[in-house]
Amino acid sequence: MRVVVPKETMPGECRVALVPETVGKLVKAGLSVVVEQGAGEAAGFTDAAYEKVGASIAPDARTLYAGADVVAKVQKPTEAEVELLPEGSFLVGVLQALVSPELVQLLAKRKVTSFALELVPRTTRAQSMDVLSSQATAVGYKAVLAAADAAPRFFPMLTTAAGTVRPSTVLVIGAGVAGLQAIATARRLGAVVQGFDIRPAAQEQVESLGAKWVGLTLEGAETAGGYAKEVTEEQKRQEHEHLAKLVAGADVVITTAQVPGRRAPVLITKDMVAAMHPGAVIVDVAAESGGNCELTRAGERVRAGGVLVIGPVNLPSGVAQDTSTMFSRNLAKIFELVIKDGALALDFEDEIVRGAVVTHEGRIVNEAVQAQVGAAV
Ligand code: NAD
Repeated sequence: MRVVVPKETMPGECRVALVPETVGKLVKAGLSVVVEQGAGEAAGFTDAAYEKVGASIAPDARTLYAGADVVAKVQKPTEAEVELLPEGSFLVGVLQALVSPELVQLLAKRKVTSFALELVPRTTRAQSMDVLSSQATAVGYKAVLAAADAAPRFFPMLTTAAGTVRPSTVLVIGAGVAGLQAIATARRLGAVVQGFDIRPAAQEQVESLGAKWVGLTLEGAETAGGYAKEVTEEQKRQEHEHLAKLVAGADVVITTAQVPGRRAPVLITKDMVAAMHPGAVIVDVAAESGGNCELTRAGERVRAGGVLVIGPVNLPSGVAQDTSTMFSRNLAKIFELVIKDGALALDFEDEIVRGAVVTHEGRIVNEAVQAQVGAAV
């Protein structure tokens, strides 16, 4: 069985789906692995490092894809890449299947079996396969570094011959995986950190990291699966009032609030930004799904009075060596689940397979995707 690793083609993407550490294990397990020339370069993995663990190198994408049984990608394929996928091959990547109806139809037509990493259920058993979590860790970390870099103030308290410098107050809105990592990182840099969420379970996690819980417990804001739900109009008003005071007092605000499958909630209005003190910095990690701040523009830095609003995109790519390694380990666990004795073996009774496989044998087989994209092709 031949596993291939293309060079990512999305502009700015430095990650690679499989790193030499994992490739070595796959080769030992009897799989053959082919890596496109330079695929790992931007993440710090040379072709020689892949060859050393038993992979071979393909000079270009066309050669790579020909004869592939398994294609391991980070980002979803472009139309041109789908055309290179052999019929019957197995594609794994962050396919954004729920919001990419054309891609899903194309994959079905091409009879590709596709596995959308973002649809792996967030259960305890699936934790080691969960790329949303592994990559969100980098999001929280990098967001804090971006804020510290852009802020005109130190994060820690400093006692110097030139007097004492008070520490920065960092408010983290949304205490999921990214938010908790942001809290931990800001604490390590010495800031005074506050954590806000609307899920009651977040309180204990925020406090266990040594931050002050400033959240609101909104009734019915949590699903049985532990995710946030969209809140009611009255709850939005309550949250707005509560947050206005907190935001006005913060030197740095990191916003990470998301509701799966929906636009990110707008939590920081223009008026709230106007009430912040000059030099304050907002890093809006939800920029790619619409933004938590009304002024955020994805991929840009917006100045509003004395306040800087940063809307970063693809933060995990900025820590590509480690995020690729984590991503690759997640993939290795998925391969253990779906490859048996050197052949693809999908058990649709398994909730992980049922949840994440999108197309198979020319049909859209995933219930959630079917509901979005329409009936099977
Ligand atoms: P996410 O990226 O979907 O959202 C980030 C945070 O934003 C969440 O904590 C959410 O409560 C919060 N949020 C949403 N709307 C908000 C609002 N209006 N105001 C303030 N905050 C708001 O979340 P995530 O990081 O993917 O994690 C979500 C949940 O899933 C967490 O409970 C996490 O512990 C859990 N989880 C479980 C597993 C697992 O068991 N495999 C893995 C990862 C995450």
